[in-house]
Amino acid sequence: MTDFLKKILFIDLIKGLSLTLKYNLSKSFTIRYPDEEKWLPYQRFRGLHTLNKDAQGRELCVACELCAKACPTKCITVVPMEDNNGIGIADRIAKIYEINLVRCMFCGFCEDACPTTAIRMGREYELACFSLDCAKADKQRLLAPQEIPVEFEGGYVIKARLERTKEGIRVRPDLTKKKRWW
Ligand code: SF4
Ligand code: SF4
Repeated sequence: MTDFLKKILFIDLIKGLSLTLKYNLSKSFTIRYPDEEKWLPYQRFRGLHTLNKDAQGRELCVACELCAKACPTKCITVVPMEDNNGIGIADRIAKIYEINLVRCMFCGFCEDACPTTAIRMGREYELACFSLDCAKADKQRLLAPQEIPVEFEGGYVIKARLERTKEGIRVRPDLTKKKRWW
């Protein structure tokens, strides 16, 4: 009898439709990536590496090659040279510092091995490109400040804005417009 009543009153249909309606009215969790919104990773995220400087602007890397030795995929190349100009914190700096991003598995071992905290995993994650040239991160690229400063805590969605650059139109995160926390 109960089943018969359920059938003639379309109870199951109404239950299904009400569930659909509930999700239609609830807040969307879809990120409109990349043109409108971007995910700002947490500080512990392991994205493109950064080579850091001290407060006086001197390079922290002393070209000891410990990161290259610790790297399980052997994708770091360090060529040392003497520093007579005070560029670094010691009398030895990296003439060449290069990471092959095709081989890198973003494990963070290089960061752990570094005695001077020169190499750090950054939060840049848009690393796809059309040529193998840009899959190599050289010293200049690694020394350049990343878009997301270290002090930003992260872990939320931020608005994105279109910006004209020499390389064409780029979508950049607007760090002033935090959208929501998870
Ligand atoms: S993150 Fe891992 S694989 Fe990538 S360069 Fe560092 S040690 Fe090598
Ligand atoms: S990044 Fe650190 S571990 Fe690697 S060569 Fe420079 S100082 Fe040594």
